[in-house]
Amino acid sequence: MYNEVISFIRKTFNTPEEFIPLHAPYFGGNEKKYLADTIDSTFVSSVGAYVNRFEDMMAEITGAKYAIATTNGTTALHLALIVAGVKRDEEVITQPLTFVATANAISHAGGIPVFVDVDLDTMGLSPNALKTFLTENAEVRDGAAYNKQTGRRIAACVPMHTFGFPARIDELADICAQYHIALVEDAAESLGSYYKGKHTGTFGLLGTFSFNGNKTVTCGGGGAIVTNDEKLAALAKHLSTTAKIPHPYEFVHDAVGYNYRMPNLNAALACAQLEQLPVILSNKKELADIYSGYFENTAIKLVMPIQDGVANNWLHTVVLEDQQHRDAFLEQTNGSKVMTRPIWRLMNKLPMYEQCMTGDLKNAEWLEERVVNLPSSYRP
Ligand SMILES: *Cc1c(COP(=O)(O)O)cnc(C)c1O
Repeated sequence: MYNEVISFIRKTFNTPEEFIPLHAPYFGGNEKKYLADTIDSTFVSSVGAYVNRFEDMMAEITGAKYAIATTNGTTALHLALIVAGVKRDEEVITQPLTFVATANAISHAGGIPVFVDVDLDTMGLSPNALKTFLTENAEVRDGAAYNKQTGRRIAACVPMHTFGFPARIDELADICAQYHIALVEDAAESLGSYYKGKHTGTFGLLGTFSFNGNKTVTCGGGGAIVTNDEKLAALAKHLSTTAKIPHPYEFVHDAVGYNYRMPNLNAALACAQLEQLPVILSNKKELADIYSGYFENTAIKLVMPIQDGVANNWLHTVVLEDQQHRDAFLEQTNGSKVMTRPIWRLMNKLPMYEQCMTGDLKNAEWLEERVVNLPSSYRP
C-alpha cells in the first residue's frame, strides 16, 4: 500500500537499499579541528573558551541577550524552571504531546505537571485551550495564579515547539502575562524556528534548547538556556556551576547548586555545528519542499508551519487518515528499512503522570493516533 512512498523516500535520499535513519547528525565543518583544540589545550571540561563562545553564538543566533550552556536540554529546562521561581508542589502547565523530558524537568524542579491541549495545526500548546483551562480553574490573588481545584500556585507554563513547528507563542505569552504565570519555552526542537520574525525560545522569561544527537545540530549532549533577564541569567549560570562563589582558591558555595555546565569538549563540537546551522537549515528546507510536492496529491497530509511561522524542518511530519493507516504505514516503512516513528504516547497516559490534572485533550488524542515522522536528515 505504501510502496510508492517508500520508493520516493529512497529516491530522495539516493539510497536504493540500505537503512535510512530518521535523523542522522551531519558533521561537515570544523568539528574535528575544534575537538582537537580542546585536547591540545587540556581544557576538555567545564571551563574553556568554547563554552563562552558557544554562549555568545547562541545569544546571537536567537537574539536573546544572554545564553547559558548546560549539559543537556533536560538540565536546561530544570534550571530554567528553578530560576523562573517554580517551588516544590507548585503546578506547571504544559502540553501532553511532548517528549517525556519536558514533564520530567518539571518534576525534577519539584513541580506538578498539568496537561492542557495542543492546537491541531501547530501540535503545540493551544492558546484557546489554555484560556479555557485558566478561566475554569484559576484565580489571581496577590499577583499570582492559583488553581481553585487544588489550591496550588500555578507557577509556570511550558509550551513546546513540536518538531520545530512554532506554537502560537505570542498569544500564549499574553495569556501567561495576564495570569502572572512565568512563561518558559521548551525550544529543544526548534533551533532555527521563528514566529513573527522572532526566534522561538525568546518570547517568555526563559527558553531552553537541546543539542542531543537526534536534534537539528548536536554536540553529543548539550543544552542552553536563553533569556533577556540579566539577574536570571546570572543565577542560572551560578546554579549550573555548583553555586560556587568566585574566589582564586577557596571553596565556598551559597546554595544547593548543580553540575550542569556544558564541558568544553562538547562546546567545541557545538560551535562547529552552529557555524553550519544556516547550511543545514537550507538543506532541510529543500527536503521540506520535496516532501510537500510529493504529498500534495496523496491522502497523507504533510504538516506545514502556520502563517507567520518559520519551521527549522527538524523532523518532517505527516498525518495519516486514522490509527489503522498509521500502523500500516509504520509497519511497512520500518519493515523496508526506512525509519519512521510515531509521535509520543501522551504524557498523561504514562504511569508517573497518569494522576496529573488535565484539560480536555481531544486534539492531542487525535494527533497521537495519526502523526508520523519521516526520514529528515541533512542530504549531502
Ligand atoms: C530533546 C528534548 C528535550 C531534552 O533534551 P536532552 O538534551 O535530550 O536532555 C526536552 N524537550 C524536548 C521537547 C525534546 O525534544
